[in-house]
Amino acid sequence: MTKLKLAALAALLLTQGAVAATSVDGAAIADEKAGANWLSYGRTYSEQRFSPLQQITDTNVGDLGVAWYMDLPGQKSLLATPLVVDGVMYFSGGYSVVFAVDTRTGKELWKYDPKTIEAAGDRLRVMWDSNRGVAYWKGRIFVATADGRLNAIDASTGKEVWSVQTVDPKLPYFINGAPRVFKDKVIIGNGGTEWGPLRGYVTAYDTATGKQAWRFYTVPGNPADGFEDETQAMAAKTWNGEWWKHGGGGTVWNGLTYDPDFNRIYIGTGNGSPWNQRIRSPGGGDNLFLCSVVALDADTGKYVWHYQTTPGETWDYNSNMDMVLADLKVDEKPVKALMHAPKNGFFYVLDRATGKLISAEKIARATWAERIDLKTGRPVEAKGARYEDGEELIYPSAFGVHNWHAMSFNPGTGLAYIPIIDVPATFTDKGVNYKQWNSPSFQFDPGLDLLRDDLPLKIDAAALIAWDPVKQQKVWEQKLPGVWNPGTLTTAGNLVFEGRTDGKLLAYRATDGIPLWSTDVGVGVSAPPITFEVDGKQYLALLTGWGGAGVSMAGAITAQHGWAYGMHPRRLIVYSLDGAQKLPKAPPPTFAEALVQDDFKVDEMQAETGSHLFLKNCVTCHGGGAVSGGYAPDLRASQAVVYDEAFKEIVVTGSRVQQGMPRFHELTDADLKAMQHYIRRQARKATVAAQLGK
Ligand code: CA
Repeated sequence: MTKLKLAALAALLLTQGAVAATSVDGAAIADEKAGANWLSYGRTYSEQRFSPLQQITDTNVGDLGVAWYMDLPGQKSLLATPLVVDGVMYFSGGYSVVFAVDTRTGKELWKYDPKTIEAAGDRLRVMWDSNRGVAYWKGRIFVATADGRLNAIDASTGKEVWSVQTVDPKLPYFINGAPRVFKDKVIIGNGGTEWGPLRGYVTAYDTATGKQAWRFYTVPGNPADGFEDETQAMAAKTWNGEWWKHGGGGTVWNGLTYDPDFNRIYIGTGNGSPWNQRIRSPGGGDNLFLCSVVALDADTGKYVWHYQTTPGETWDYNSNMDMVLADLKVDEKPVKALMHAPKNGFFYVLDRATGKLISAEKIARATWAERIDLKTGRPVEAKGARYEDGEELIYPSAFGVHNWHAMSFNPGTGLAYIPIIDVPATFTDKGVNYKQWNSPSFQFDPGLDLLRDDLPLKIDAAALIAWDPVKQQKVWEQKLPGVWNPGTLTTAGNLVFEGRTDGKLLAYRATDGIPLWSTDVGVGVSAPPITFEVDGKQYLALLTGWGGAGVSMAGAITAQHGWAYGMHPRRLIVYSLDGAQKLPKAPPPTFAEALVQDDFKVDEMQAETGSHLFLKNCVTCHGGGAVSGGYAPDLRASQAVVYDEAFKEIVVTGSRVQQGMPRFHELTDADLKAMQHYIRRQARKATVAAQLGK
């Protein structure tokens, strides 16, 4: 070998040394300063979704263009936060299919399909196709499936290494959340409280073997079986009646934060099962640990402290939203803070050393409570908020002021960027026989009367706000379309990025909220953007899809955007300052045209019966009031519903299971007939297009 060749080889080795493969472990995920990779759901353990990258800034962001894109045919909901490790992107799509993509070429490296539909059985009824993301630890990818499995995959090949079932398959648990990893453990929770008598819990598994390390239950079980430990006995004192018959609830379906400073896991817990506390825990009680932030020892899963945001909840005001860690200065004193904006409309700052409440203020309309008493840490509830005298119009609705769409926090500006929803709901249990109420099994029933009719179409009921957590004040606000806007990203380039329900992606100046850049992606956005760097260049990436509970249940509120089922392409889009690709033209917004069937005479009694059946079986995909927001076909426009045989073939026989339509084998011909009357009745109401004047 010549000297020249040796020098070239040495130079090559040096370059390779400089970009040596990242060992994705606890130190790497905790590193706030390294910006090239995006190693965890919230980028780092702090869940701040803040990137220190600053090639793209508030002065040049207008130059962003499409560097490359990847079509994702067959996908519906795309909600995931992609991860990037050394130039390879990993993300989950519908039904937890995982993709690995080379970000230098935009080419798919491998695809892993856990065959969720085949494994789901009746659980197809209680879940959506959605999945919010994967975790990465020491060369392995972890993804959970809607049917309750947690799977480990080899990151270089996409081959499954191990798979464990984390739930009792006979119960309507599902998983659509992203696992988190710490100290050779991977943790996951679950959801499903609206569909059956569930008891919430999280489980940590050994990343190498899949062996269970520990499990923590969020609500106490049946006292006759004995409590697992003194924590469960303590929680049981806050319950009344025979709560265990209804499961209790408190599922941990989204927020999980590992805190390396204290070696703790914070879990955000869900609402009660059922929502209606009069059924769940007659006589009241705080019902621990519903709607709480609970701190657990990361090694043992043992309880450390808790803070309950909504004691005795009865509105679905869960605390499953993300929990963001930051060092704040409060009253001139440094505080290791935890920030949390749950559904109930307040923004909480906790001292995470002790779990003590530092401050809490409303970030939007929240009429259920007047304020949070800082002495007791408890809400001062408004009169009538528990709809004890009949029905009550309350802000927020069960969609919450803030849902799972993650906020971001920028340590430079000191602000949190939160997508908020300003929609009320009428809460009532009129007509619900709560003394003899039966827990559903694989049917939607929160113990309230709701969603049998369409929701009022409201535009401009959402906003992106910048919130100062120390002053507990809004610094700026930008109105957003619709309600179901996705999570945010903030960067050291003084930027905030967020997609929107109307198919746009925007960049705002982080300090004052001035919009600096906007682009059309061709479909409503439900996923948060991320940023990463490869070969010295900063990129912005976004999955474009349309999904989640707000899309599938909110009727006209989401149908107003015209992202009709199956119409608009799903993609991964990657932007850079020199990007010059053009996206193919997307179809225009499309609105369902209800079929008019003149010879069908709607029987009001039948339609009323059908409305209850629709609520229990169909509403979670086909939409409130039978108005589809685009997650599933709009049944008012469906030919199949009109013909008895075709309707039965799909609903009872299950001819479209492969497309995600569950089988309802127990529904009788009379049930189907009643639902036809209901759907035809709804079809005669003004269409969304007519309401919009289109
Ligand atoms: Ca819920």
